[in-house]
Amino acid sequence: MSIEHYDAIVVGAGQAGPAIAARCSREGLRTAIIERGPFGGTCVNVGCVPTKTLVASARAIHLARRGAEFGFATGGEVRADMARIKARKDGIVEASRNGVESWMRGLKHTEAIVGEARFTAPRTLRVNDRELTAPRIFLNLGGRALVPDLPGVHDVPTLDNRTVMELTEVPEHLVIIGGSYIGLEFAHLMRRFGAQVTVVEKSPRLLPREDEDVADGVRAILEAEGIRIDTGAECLSLSHRGARIAVGAACATQIPPIEGTHVLLAVGRRPNTDGSGLDSAGIQTDARGFIVVDDQCRSVSAEGVWAVGDCNGRGAFTHTAWNDHEIVVANLFDNDPRRIGDRIACYALFTDPPLARVGASESEVRASGRPALRAKMPMQRVGRARESGETQGFMKVVVDAETRVLLGAAILGMNGDEVIHSLLDMMAAGQPVDRIARTVHIHPTVSELVPTLLQQLKPMA
Ligand SMILES: Cc1cc2nc3c(=O)[nH]c(=O)nc-3n(C[C@H](O)[C@H](O)[C@H](O)COP(=O)(O)OP(=O)(O)OC[C@H]3O[C@@H](n4cnc5c(N)ncnc54)[C@H](O)[C@@H]3O)c2cc1C
Repeated sequence: MSIEHYDAIVVGAGQAGPAIAARCSREGLRTAIIERGPFGGTCVNVGCVPTKTLVASARAIHLARRGAEFGFATGGEVRADMARIKARKDGIVEASRNGVESWMRGLKHTEAIVGEARFTAPRTLRVNDRELTAPRIFLNLGGRALVPDLPGVHDVPTLDNRTVMELTEVPEHLVIIGGSYIGLEFAHLMRRFGAQVTVVEKSPRLLPREDEDVADGVRAILEAEGIRIDTGAECLSLSHRGARIAVGAACATQIPPIEGTHVLLAVGRRPNTDGSGLDSAGIQTDARGFIVVDDQCRSVSAEGVWAVGDCNGRGAFTHTAWNDHEIVVANLFDNDPRRIGDRIACYALFTDPPLARVGASESEVRASGRPALRAKMPMQRVGRARESGETQGFMKVVVDAETRVLLGAAILGMNGDEVIHSLLDMMAAGQPVDRIARTVHIHPTVSELVPTLLQQLKPMA
């Protein structure tokens, strides 16, 4: 087999890979992009895009059920039609996936190859019956759902983020193992579709990485819609119970297990770095399998190899994967020394209302011992939220006492996922919060509360 020479090879057409391939193509490099599954990777096919279409359906159903409150009748019970909800989701996903694929197939100097790539030697990969080499290899391998090592986990049918979105009927009772971001999104939307939902979480509270008031606020929102939440579930196990699945959550044998019709595993993600022959190329991974990279996404052990997106363990979101691509092309082609370290942590949990977060949590700031100011106000104070009948949640900020620069913020509430960007942009600009506290915001919006909130700062007790 003769080795085919390229200038650049991208493995994985997820969120970072295609944009890197496009830039290589623009630079006139002979490029190959290799994808073993559907183009677009996790976000497009089994992550952000499909979940947000389901979140939109769930919200529409929820609002329709509140018709009487808003002054309209629906002419009967509002019921989810899972097959139609899935069809809508599939249509949006397909358009997005096709967009990525046709983008890649249309690039100049670029070959889009369908197949699984595996290293055979440094900077050399086998795919199908071909062997390819290039001086620059970009790994955009992504990740997949982690299967926890629980008694019985391989004896009963379980769902993950892919298969749960293939259901054409609403589960009667969905038990979700894992009370973190992915699990809670599914919990909320499935409840609104009409499923009985139980969330089982090992830690003493939901969202263990968030502040206690944030986690409690999310819990209250979910419980208000009838979701059962079992935290502190230290002795998890799975077994058959007739046609149902029994989820044991407590160590005490007299506490009966939870019986569900379906079980969703949502306990975390693992990188797709096994099975790619990274050892043959001297590419170092850490104990959890993430490719170890420097602040420019370069492999620390293999020259000419970059790892971008979820597989480098430096981010777990589409926006971090995209930013990895920006960092790589800026350093390679634009002489612009962008770094992962420049990034401010930001993300959202798309329950409804959502939780949006930037920077450090209050507990992290407290643990750091640095003098800080804090302000917190309920969404009840937002006129627009009252007018919309969506007053759950709060806004909270933590500010450096000396520089008056924002250290972190949480917005749990209506439009929080949009409003948070005014705070994120202030952090990025390195401006003291007084700038935003004195900025006039439009009335009536949720953002209107931000300057008011920043006028309430008090030293953190
Ligand atoms: C249910 C769910 C909801 C989510 N919601 C959000 C959200 O709302 N917002 C957000 O920012 N993030 C969200 N995420 C996370 C987001 O999807 C990921 O962070 C993002 O997709 C990571 O992109 P990536 O490019 O690193 O990898 P991926 O998108 O996973 O792409 C990696 C690609 O590499 C391919 N591949 C792997 N190995 C090989 C190989 N050896 N040969 C060839 N191809 C290979 C895979 O097939 C895959 O297509 C969600 C994730 C899940 C699971």
